[in-house]
Amino acid sequence: MSTPLRLMAILAHPDDESMGLGGALARCHDEGIHTSVVTATLGQAGRYRGIRPGEPGHPGADGLGEIRRKELDAAVKVLGVDELIVLGYVDQKLDQADAREILPRLAAAIRRIRPQVVVTFAPDGAYGHPDHIAISQFAGAAIVSAADPAVKLAGADAEHSPHAVDKFYYMAWNEVDKDAFEKAFRRMAAMVDGVERSPRGWPAWQITTVVDTRAQWDTAWKSVECHESQITAYEALAKLPPEAHEALWGKQSFYRAFSRVNAGRSLETDLFEGLRGTSAGR
Ligand SMILES: [Zn+2]
Repeated sequence: MSTPLRLMAILAHPDDESMGLGGALARCHDEGIHTSVVTATLGQAGRYRGIRPGEPGHPGADGLGEIRRKELDAAVKVLGVDELIVLGYVDQKLDQADAREILPRLAAAIRRIRPQVVVTFAPDGAYGHPDHIAISQFAGAAIVSAADPAVKLAGADAEHSPHAVDKFYYMAWNEVDKDAFEKAFRRMAAMVDGVERSPRGWPAWQITTVVDTRAQWDTAWKSVECHESQITAYEALAKLPPEAHEALWGKQSFYRAFSRVNAGRSLETDLFEGLRGTSAGR
């Protein structure tokens, strides 16, 4: 009998799952694939409906964290996610998390849930966001730790045997889609240490995998809308006609960072290519 297929997304903030790969998560759910989302922070440092932290009407960091946790719960429910793990690190400071603390926690989740496929941010953090860059690095390192028999986990986590992930992906937009998204939504940029960081689209030849999520575009958009506290960021999106939403959410692109089952230059249409109908997931 073949092993059930499982997808894990390892991300930084509530809304990363919906904005980043909501369509792919919903499609996996529709196909009977087990999906899990690991969210490292509760996005407590952000704005609340456009109100900056410290300004009147902002619920404060803890209050915002509670609100965003509920929004995240609602969004993963819309997407049919089977398990949500919130790690509780401090928003905007994930790159200062102690690797000796976060890596065993991520490795424990990987060993327990045993996903064949893991998805995270690309090394550039989509648009240079330090939390996204940090979680990309931690996810990669945790995959190595989870597979390494020499890595012993403490407490209840010790019972889970090592697990080798078969395929590891980065979320990746090609240049054309990135431009369309910025035109429809807003220019994505982050000021970090006085330097502006903005997204670079991936050249089309570098994209390894494009998943057709046209049947899931409305589910993906509904999950984005769950994040009401961030609604001012999505105002421009909310005004778009359905066909524009279908264009935005109707496919999702990835870069295959490694694969233990197949490689080559042909464009994949499935994150589980090479894993279906086999006894993968040792
Ligand atoms: Zn994020």
